[in-house]
Amino acid sequence: MIGDEARPDPPWRRTARAAGLVDATGVVRTTIFAEMSALAAQHGAINLGQGFPDDDAPPIVLDTAIAAIRAGINQYPPGRGFADLRQAIAEHQQRFYGLTVDPGSEVLVTAGATEAVAASLLAFAGPGDEVITLEPFYDAYAAVIGLSGARHVTIPLSEPGFQPSAAAIDAAFSHRTRVIVLNSPHNPTGSMLDTEHVERIVALAAKHDAVIVSDEVYEHLVYDGRQHVPTASLPGAAERTLTVSSAAKTFSVTGWKIGWVTGPAALIDAVIAVKQWLTYVNGAPFQGAVAEGLRLPDSFFDELRGTMQRRRDLLAAGLTRAGFTIEPTAGSYFIVADGAALGLGDAATSARQLAVTPGVVAIPLSSFGHPGGPVSATALRFAFCKTDEAIAEAVTRLQSLRR
Ligand code: PMP
Ligand code: GLN
Repeated sequence: MIGDEARPDPPWRRTARAAGLVDATGVVRTTIFAEMSALAAQHGAINLGQGFPDDDAPPIVLDTAIAAIRAGINQYPPGRGFADLRQAIAEHQQRFYGLTVDPGSEVLVTAGATEAVAASLLAFAGPGDEVITLEPFYDAYAAVIGLSGARHVTIPLSEPGFQPSAAAIDAAFSHRTRVIVLNSPHNPTGSMLDTEHVERIVALAAKHDAVIVSDEVYEHLVYDGRQHVPTASLPGAAERTLTVSSAAKTFSVTGWKIGWVTGPAALIDAVIAVKQWLTYVNGAPFQGAVAEGLRLPDSFFDELRGTMQRRRDLLAAGLTRAGFTIEPTAGSYFIVADGAALGLGDAATSARQLAVTPGVVAIPLSSFGHPGGPVSATALRFAFCKTDEAIAEAVTRLQSLRR
């Protein structure tokens, strides 16, 4: 019978094992985010683990979605997304980066950045191919590469600074490379890739005729006056780059699952060919609201950045006072903090202990990589997209570790 546990290796489990989605005993794993958020709820811990903001979206964005539901915008939207949202995405790329994309043929609305990345990978990679990511990597990349049947090759990033070496970039490419996934600002390390490294990657992608999937969901969360540089804006990149972003982080609506991908029409067509069989379309009443958000004045984006930078500084100072060794965060809403000096051991274990005592949840950095990966085994990722009060309380609790 389908799903029968007595069958030694039903097909779903073989697929799941190949994709690394089951544990050693064959049981399907939940994501580390779901597991740690459940622990936070169970122990009343402050949740600085899963990256979702405590703040709500701007009122105009919320009101537009509510009005859309009331106005009956509740049936399937067009396959590429509503024209107005595609127009707003194109305007956003022009306004912030001077990038011209055709809303008719070069923009696709997706079920979050997650689906944009998944459909892009499934469109371009399969058995016998190689897909490159940075390591540590956002967990969904590895899972979808596994589902595609391609081989996952990584470019290590390690402390201090979490930048790749030129030699590691060169070593990752081969004649089998079909896709390289970039992510800057980077989850989980908070680093931003130096432009010289991205240029090197673009040149190698061109040499091997590989597609670049550039996950830029943290594009508006960059600090200390830094500028986000989209991969597609670099010389020679636009013709092979799929740029992915999402409303989740910019408008604090992680539950809406509205993302998008922009790029050359031929590449977008290939992504649509997969997306339409995954979700077909998504989020009709939210799409107009996201268009409204993308057209907000600069003051909105400046304020978001200012608030998050202030919270980054609060958490960084607090973690340092508590005895952690921290890595500076250039962008995203994450700080990497090492607890070795506090006597904390392997982060996979200590993160689960910290959830109970003193009651703070963080994510082990090692869960964003393969076993024996490039990052310190004692490093944790803390999210600062939380209220000032939550951050202050987490710091107070963590300071008790010293006593
Ligand atoms: N990419 C990165 C780097 C992320 O951190 C996340 C999670 N926020 C996603 C993609 C998924 O985004 P979404 O919630 O829009 O699917
Ligand atoms: N992107 C979020 C993070 O890195 C979580 C997304 C998820 O739960 N899958 O924390």
